[in-house]
Formats: sequence, structure tokens, C-alpha cells
Amino acid sequence: LGPTICVGEILVEIVATTVGDGFTDAQPLVGPYPSGAPAIFIDQCGRFGGAAAMIGAVGDDDFGRVNLDRLKRDGVDVSAIAVDPDWPTGSAFVRYRADGSRDFVYNIATSAAARFGWTAEVEALARRAGHLHVMGSALSMPEAREVIARALPIVRARGGTVSLDPNLRKELRQGAEAGQLFATLLSECDLLLPSGEELELAAGTDGEARAVGTLLTGGCGEIVLKRGAAGASAFAPDGSRVDALAFEVEELDPTGAGDCFGGAYVTARRLGLPTEAALTYACAAGARNVTVRGPMEGAATRAELDAFIAATPRAPG
Ligand code: ADP
Repeated sequence: LGPTICVGEILVEIVATTVGDGFTDAQPLVGPYPSGAPAIFIDQCGRFGGAAAMIGAVGDDDFGRVNLDRLKRDGVDVSAIAVDPDWPTGSAFVRYRADGSRDFVYNIATSAAARFGWTAEVEALARRAGHLHVMGSALSMPEAREVIARALPIVRARGGTVSLDPNLRKELRQGAEAGQLFATLLSECDLLLPSGEELELAAGTDGEARAVGTLLTGGCGEIVLKRGAAGASAFAPDGSRVDALAFEVEELDPTGAGDCFGGAYVTARRLGLPTEAALTYACAAGARNVTVRGPMEGAATRAELDAFIAATPRAPG
């Protein structure tokens, strides 16, 4: 029906290599790596072998070229990525705390990452898209909200599907407008991909079963819950449920796992694979990605995932 499209921040990411308590202490850092949750998602779609295209912006600089080169290499259509002559490519810094949580410093609003809008290229892409994936992090940008709100009815009108990953980041402010668009997407998405507490936050209810029920009754077509090192579960409105065990790996850098998981799941389903097989690929994509430093560095081809699945034990449930 047409490519999977994703809208939002394209960044370079600098990653701390030690565990600490904030950004105030000097620390060893590595990077820049191509990044931005929507960009990681779409890179995994392309790498898996699905038609994929990105909407966003980079600066006319090396950081922008790092991203464009990577996305192109992995088969992503970059024709609707704007190259801004005046602003630098966006960046993110990530640091890990001893309790497993993360802190980000984002340079998005003051960079090229937020400087895109509804252009002829974007409209042309929306008119041939088969699937729109929305990352909650992108909803912090008014520019992305406008593009998503305009693309949504166009993709829908031609029979395309929609997925939503809440991807909540405490560092990215989500105002009332973002909340409204999020609620619209929640009630009409074909697939919701929350992780951890995002399920209950999205539903506004406590308890996994109750939250799943509330969201499916509210119009969401399918829910795939990401459970980190505990795997994932898919819930359908008919009450059916498919659970997948995680793969047993040593976690080096968790950033990007959920984006790779989503890219593999959406693409596998769009290529016609059943839920169970798509979940296995998604868990493999997430697990493989955490073994590699850099958020997009572990994005894998289908053949790489087949090899990973054959070679890696499943974690006990
Ligand atoms: P997010 O990155 O969105 O917070 P998760 O941390 O749940 O999402 O990771 C997404 C998926 O990646 C998980 O459902 C799981 O399949 C896989 N994954 C993530 N972390 C690990 C890990 N430490 N070991 C094995 N699989 C993992």
C-alpha cells in the first residue's frame, strides 16, 4: 500500500559510558551516533526490509550527514527530510543512573530537528504512505504536531494504518495541544506500543488488565506491551493475548530498544507475518540493540535477526 512513514526529531546522541547521578560530573562519553526515536524506528523498518520514509530536518553539517547517510544506507527514503541551512542538527546526551533510569539533555527546539513543516514533498509522501507511525516524543514539537495532524486523515483515507508509541520523556514538555493529539491518536490507532508505566498512564487507570481493557474499548486496535528484559505481550480486542519471552543478553546500552522493537514489529506485520512471529522478531530487535552502544547501532536486517534468534537463548519467564 506504500511505505511506513515516521515524523519527528532526527538527532545525534552522545552516550555516557559509566553509571552516575547526573550530568554535573565529568564523565567519559562516546558518540555522536545517529539518533532520535522516530529516526531509530524508521531505520529499523528499512533495515528489516520494509518500505520506509522519514519526515524531519537536519542541519547542513556533519551531524546531519551522519544521519542522512545512515538512513539512506538502510533503505529509508529521505526525500522528505529538510536540510536547514541556518540551524545545527539536533543533539541528545544520555546518562544512566545506578537504579537503571536515564537522564537526557535534548537540543531539539533550538536546532534544525524542529525546523520542518508541511511541504510539497511531505504531502506527496503522505499521499503514497501505507502506514503512519507516531512517536510521542515528537509531539513536543508544534511543527511535528502539524505534520502528523495533516498526514493522519490522508493516510487513513487511502486505507493506511496508524501506530503510536507513547515514548514519554520527562525532559520533553508535552502541553495541552500535544495531549489532545495524543488522545485522538490513542482512540484511533491500529496499534499502540507502550512500555512499562506508559500503558497505565495512557489508559489513566491502574492495573495492567484494566488499562488494556480501557484502551481497547476506547478504540485502540491492538496493544503490544514492551516489558524490557521480561519480553512483550500482544493484546487484541477479541481478548486474545500472545506473550513472548525476552532473549537472554547482556545489556550495554538500553536506549533505542523500544524503537527497534517497534520498527521490527510494524514491518513484520506489514509484510504479512502473524503476531507471534512478529513479536519474536521485535523482541530480538530490542534485545540485539541493547547489546551495542549507540541507539541505532544495533538495528538489524531480517537475516541478522534470524541468526540472532537461532543463536540466543530465551530468558526464563
Ligand atoms: P523502551 O525502550 O520503549 O522503554 P523496553 O525497554 O521495554 O522499551 O524494550 C523494548 C523491547 O526490547 C522489550 O520488550 C524486549 O523485548 C527488548 N529488550 C529490552 N531490554 C532488554 C534486555 N535487557 N534483555 C532482553 N531484551 C530486552
